[in-house]
Amino acid sequence: MPLNVRTCRMNLLRPSLFALACLLAPPGTASDLPSLGDASSAIVSPEQEHQLGRAWLSLLRGQVPHLSDAQLKDYVETSVYRLSETSQLQDRRLEFVLLDSPQLNAFAAPGGIIGVNGGLFLYAQTEAEYAAVLAHELAHLSQRHFARGLEAQQRLQLPMMATMLAGIIAAAAGAGDAGMAAIASSQAAAMQEMRRFSRQNEQEADRIGLLNLEKAGYDPRAMPSMFERLMRQYRYDAKPPEFLLTHPVTESRIADTRNRAEQYRPGGRQDDHRYQLMRARVQLVYEQTSGMAVKRFRALLDENPKSVAARYGLSLALTKSGQLNEAREVLLPLLNQVPNDIDYNLAAVALDITANRIQEAEMRVKRLLALYPGNYPLRQAQADLLLKQNQPAAAEKVISQLLASRPEDPDIWYLAAEVRGLSGDIVGVHQARAEYFALVGNYDQAIEQLDFAKRRASGNFQLAARMDARQRALKEEKKMIEEMLR
Ligand SMILES: [Zn+2]
Repeated sequence: MPLNVRTCRMNLLRPSLFALACLLAPPGTASDLPSLGDASSAIVSPEQEHQLGRAWLSLLRGQVPHLSDAQLKDYVETSVYRLSETSQLQDRRLEFVLLDSPQLNAFAAPGGIIGVNGGLFLYAQTEAEYAAVLAHELAHLSQRHFARGLEAQQRLQLPMMATMLAGIIAAAAGAGDAGMAAIASSQAAAMQEMRRFSRQNEQEADRIGLLNLEKAGYDPRAMPSMFERLMRQYRYDAKPPEFLLTHPVTESRIADTRNRAEQYRPGGRQDDHRYQLMRARVQLVYEQTSGMAVKRFRALLDENPKSVAARYGLSLALTKSGQLNEAREVLLPLLNQVPNDIDYNLAAVALDITANRIQEAEMRVKRLLALYPGNYPLRQAQADLLLKQNQPAAAEKVISQLLASRPEDPDIWYLAAEVRGLSGDIVGVHQARAEYFALVGNYDQAIEQLDFAKRRASGNFQLAARMDARQRALKEEKKMIEEMLR
């Protein structure tokens, strides 16, 4: 595909995907689509909806940069799964994407896709506020707002949503500019229609989100509190954050959620120190220089010497800016307080790696892994360390374990390709690249990589047969998507 097509996609898709996100809100699962059945299934069957969501996610991943910080990813996944446990969501096959953007946004999309911008951590000041936004998004999923949106479109004989989704998928399948044209023409009109229908969906997502927030042990007052703060902050702003465009915060919305929240007993959880640690990680990502981050976290710690998050953030920022002795001094009290805390220990590991104290780092990771053997960020740190020590074979083993638990994570496949390259496993490199490309929506490249792999593995019939099968599956996937477009 010529380069300019890619650039053009970037420009067109970026805003549309974000803005669409919440409108597109989600899928129901398959077998139990409500009585809208006929209208919606005429457009997209439940299984297609699932496939469509995954294809949409692949495309999104291929177009928009994401954060690959293992601790943040792990936090988002764990916290959303926990919220989903007390929600009405029946199909909990969720997939996550953490987008590299400081703008406030979070969304749900068909097929159980949950997207979170780095910016959510910047804007949501407490764990309960963060959970409020995600409880709202989960409600879009559990209430099958996506399928209902399709039904509404059908009734109005405005199948623009389908056209638009088709356009997105066309781009995913490599159909190029035809797909882009479909998006461009239907987008503006469809957005307007969807917004009209989505007001009711938004209200329902707020209501159910509040309910589930409380069920998950949070203080539901966090939802109106966050809305109120955002409204004060952006009342006169011509360019509010993305989330407020799809979720206009109005006086009546605030009043409605406030009234409902006040009906719950007080006493729910408002915050957690771990959320604040993750928030510090994100703040560090979006600070212009590590020097400025040091300044900011130092000021915060001076202001509130007991703030664990300020201390943690300061230590990370000092490490990043190479002031390693002070970074260690600042971190030590945290480690003394909670010697087995994973985040504090990983901060110490990062520090040791920067200071080239690889053995200390390795011992620390080993000790922690004995306590938390299934922990993804610890395993990731172990793989990174082994790579640093030039032990690709051992790193490969760790990465294989990671792949077993995160088979749909493009970051891990990317790393797998790198590690296999270092250990001279050329067939494995191509296989890993194929999986990576499939997960970022580039099926042609994925299929081609398997061609390369098969050529290399021609003597090994079993292996070649497995790759043939995988290639057929990928071709099917690509074809299925193309057929959905007709
Ligand atoms: Zn919403």
